[in-house]
Amino acid sequence: MERRQFIRAASAMAGSLALGGCATAATKPTPLSNPQQSPLSVKVPPLPMIDARVDRIVAMNVCTRPFRAMGPRIEAEKMAAKTVVHNYGHGGSGWSLSWGSAAAATDLALNAGAKQVAVIGCGAIGLTTAIEAQRRGLDVSIYAKERPPYVRSAYATGIWSPDSRIVSLQHAEPFAARWKTMAQTSYRRFQTLLGLEGAPVEWTQIYNLSDVPFGSSVHHEPAGEPDYPNFSRDLLPGLTPQPVAIPNKVNPFAAAHVKRHPLLMFNIGEYSELLLNRFHQNGGRIINADFASSSEFAALDESTVINCTGYGARALLNDDSITPVRGQTCKLIPQPEINYGIWFWDKQVSVYPRRDGLLVQAQADGDFGNPNAVVDPQESEAAVRRLADIIAEMKTV
Ligand SMILES: Cc1cc2nc3c(=O)[nH]c(=O)nc-3n(C[C@H](O)[C@H](O)[C@H](O)COP(=O)(O)OP(=O)(O)OC[C@H]3O[C@@H](n4cnc5c(N)ncnc54)[C@H](O)[C@@H]3O)c2cc1C
Repeated sequence: MERRQFIRAASAMAGSLALGGCATAATKPTPLSNPQQSPLSVKVPPLPMIDARVDRIVAMNVCTRPFRAMGPRIEAEKMAAKTVVHNYGHGGSGWSLSWGSAAAATDLALNAGAKQVAVIGCGAIGLTTAIEAQRRGLDVSIYAKERPPYVRSAYATGIWSPDSRIVSLQHAEPFAARWKTMAQTSYRRFQTLLGLEGAPVEWTQIYNLSDVPFGSSVHHEPAGEPDYPNFSRDLLPGLTPQPVAIPNKVNPFAAAHVKRHPLLMFNIGEYSELLLNRFHQNGGRIINADFASSSEFAALDESTVINCTGYGARALLNDDSITPVRGQTCKLIPQPEINYGIWFWDKQVSVYPRRDGLLVQAQADGDFGNPNAVVDPQESEAAVRRLADIIAEMKTV
């Protein structure tokens, strides 16, 4: 989840009004846990200290989210003798929505009568689409310029964030029903990926910190971005377990207001390996290919092509509807004992306890529309220093 979106989630109004009748009583599930949990029953286990030091940074990565104001493009198109099913433009939600999007794209391929498909792209969307198509009986080959760990998907934060920059508020309504199905399908699928060796997918706890009461933040939001709907709150309020407020008595942080959110996390290195292995075990093959234009699809053997090229679709199809949204992260040396993360949006920093390194995300103004994929070391170093300040102020309770 992004800071900006959290502010919306905390607000009592905004999205639900703008979405009109999207969430009906008939479709609204009952929350899985009681958000009104008694403060007396809330416990905080001793939290091991995150060693947040600039000299522990082992990697810095930057990449651009493929945002489309009208939502991802998932539709079939006839191109000469081929059917091309597009499946790209998933903004900051590609990992989260991948299985649902894969199912929608596979439906379209099957409707076109596909038996063999060429999936273009080997990121989060390409791999899950390929596996889903195999599951439904198709013979699949992946054609891609890069494969994990060198795809853009590998540089994501790796958390359940199904409505992060997935559509603009202006275009929310026509996309809402599809989003809901995709989010439900994905969420169900992720539950089947828990408890596996190497923990490709696991639950973690995130402490959400604020100096002011939740919902009353007046801090500025990143400049230049459109408004976004809060689909999770408005369409699927009970899908994931609810956060609990941490009472002052057991609050180990200096921030006055703290909530703890259970959150699904993807250990992207391990998870990508799992996906690659499953694809190969199912008889799939990956072929190196760099398409200069979609007209080159004509040379492929398969009559159905599923285009999962992410941000690459912008150049491949001359599709200016894809807006780059820059995001930079860094990794600190892994600390296996750390089993929690922190969001402190007003300090523009968050940290996630990924197994392959504690992932620190900086939030910066000017990310929206910014195609710059060059790492700015100062940005990550400053984020780690802000995190160090938060940790230094922690107290034993
Ligand atoms: C900083 C950051 C944090 C994020 N955090 C999260 C998160 O926590 N949770 C979440 O759900 N999402 C997150 N996202 C979003 C997520 O990473 C993207 O939505 C997702 O990676 C898109 O995956 P993709 O497979 O469409 O694209 P990519 O990973 O870019 O894959 C595209 C594939 O297509 C291939 N390709 C492209 N063009 C061509 C061509 N011309 N010829 C041949 N092959 C080509 C590439 O080589 C690659 O294999 C984050 C994004 C960023 C930038």
